[in-house]
Amino acid sequence: MAHGALTSLRSPWPVPARPPHVVIFPLPAQGHVNTMLRLAELLILRSGRNGLCVTFLNSEQNHLRLLSFTDAADRFSEHPTFCFKTISDGLPPEAPLSKDTILEMMEYLKLTARDVIADVIAPPPTSSSLPPVTCIIVDGALSFVIDLGEDIGVPVFVFRTISACGFWAYFCMPRLVEAGELPIQGEDDKDRLLTSIPAMEGFLRCRDLPTFCQVTDLSDAFFRYIEDQTIRTSQARGLILNTFDALEESMLDQIRPHCPNLYTVGPLNTHLRSIQLSTGSSPVISSGGRSSNSLWKEDRSCLRWLDMQPERSVVYVSFGSITVFKGKELTEFWHGLAASKFRFLWVMRPGSVPDQDEEDDELRAVTRERGCIVEWAPQEEVLAHPAIGGFLTHSGWNSTIESIAAGVPMVCWPYIAEQPTNSRFVSEVWKVGMDMKGSCDRRVIERMVGDLMTGRREELATTAACMAEAAAEAVSQGGSSWDSMNRLIDDIWTMASPHKRVDH
Ligand code: UDP
Repeated sequence: MAHGALTSLRSPWPVPARPPHVVIFPLPAQGHVNTMLRLAELLILRSGRNGLCVTFLNSEQNHLRLLSFTDAADRFSEHPTFCFKTISDGLPPEAPLSKDTILEMMEYLKLTARDVIADVIAPPPTSSSLPPVTCIIVDGALSFVIDLGEDIGVPVFVFRTISACGFWAYFCMPRLVEAGELPIQGEDDKDRLLTSIPAMEGFLRCRDLPTFCQVTDLSDAFFRYIEDQTIRTSQARGLILNTFDALEESMLDQIRPHCPNLYTVGPLNTHLRSIQLSTGSSPVISSGGRSSNSLWKEDRSCLRWLDMQPERSVVYVSFGSITVFKGKELTEFWHGLAASKFRFLWVMRPGSVPDQDEEDDELRAVTRERGCIVEWAPQEEVLAHPAIGGFLTHSGWNSTIESIAAGVPMVCWPYIAEQPTNSRFVSEVWKVGMDMKGSCDRRVIERMVGDLMTGRREELATTAACMAEAAAEAVSQGGSSWDSMNRLIDDIWTMASPHKRVDH
């Protein structure tokens, strides 16, 4: 590690006898682990060489995959104040994540969290280089940890890895019920405009709500779980979001009265990368590469394929780590892309596609001619590649904010959770793409991809470039996300000091 470079970044925080020790507890799923690892690395790099310590709780399965497929082991071994600790997620090995298994996993973690926390905050052995735990940063999907932490005197921050608009929609679930706007009355009711979510009146329809809110029965287990976990956020010492002020100001204004201690530190991928570059923090970064937290093996051959394509000529197609196609959806996408005549790079994750009952020779021929299919891509590098002209995405928050940070316009086909809310904001508020939700028809796909790559290309690209600039500004020194991260580190230091309190 380039200690000299780090020294120049060293923070104004003093070097106490017992530095703070933060436990980071993500939901064991790709998007959550990825984001919270980025936060962990940023906390360490931004707080300087004598900075705080981090223990990262990783599920056994994810840990094996992370070590097999990424540079994480080397990267984190550079930081003597960082350690992984593995826990069980309660799922059988290799069980794919779906709506059902995620709920099962969250219920399991709820049952076991007390023991996990007790174990991790137990006094460290005298041989340990880590000091006692001084605070916990828990995933907002596991907010029950707030009470456990407070019971034993360890303050808890919540990190919600979703957009501010998604969080605010969840936060308003009780209002929607009170106003009689939920439950919905079935498919025909989905175009109804909602009026009881402040700052979303006029454009948010039932179909734009997070999927877990689009229920016809209020006793739905997921609905109740998410509502409960979201409301608890107000009791945390602070709420951390992977967004930036200029992007979601109106949402943040709504959230602040309920969660006054708000830290907006995103986009975390660009925030981290700029610090990694300035500190020369790992051999991968020093040699011009990028760090990765992928739980699948990245196929880097697609970057060589992209190198051979003209500028802004390729549609990047990826639906994240959880989406599974049903029925004819895959075939519709394939026909739509083929008919659009544009080049495409498509991530077909193992397990996401149904067994093809028939091989379509025509589609295979089109793919050979102007397509590239991989099982998992180095997405950040792909989005930054000059050959990419647009992103056909499922609107997962990481993918959305990574695309915004890279200035790449989107066509959105949301699948689960708050993705329908993100896609509505992409099309109606940020105007950096189009929303295809509710439809999976080859003609619609062909038309929207055509608009993305030619029809509306300049208009969307111009807005996307402005957004990317605002994102870069937010994470640069003195920007809103940079300042938020300073404040977070400051508050973590203050809480670790026995004589100081942080009152917000
Ligand atoms: N990702 C990746 N390679 C791929 C597809 C996705 O590295 O081929 C990463 C992507 O950059 C993002 C994460 O996986 O950071 C997916 O998170 P997101 O919130 O977009 O969706 P989820 O997987 O949670 O549905």
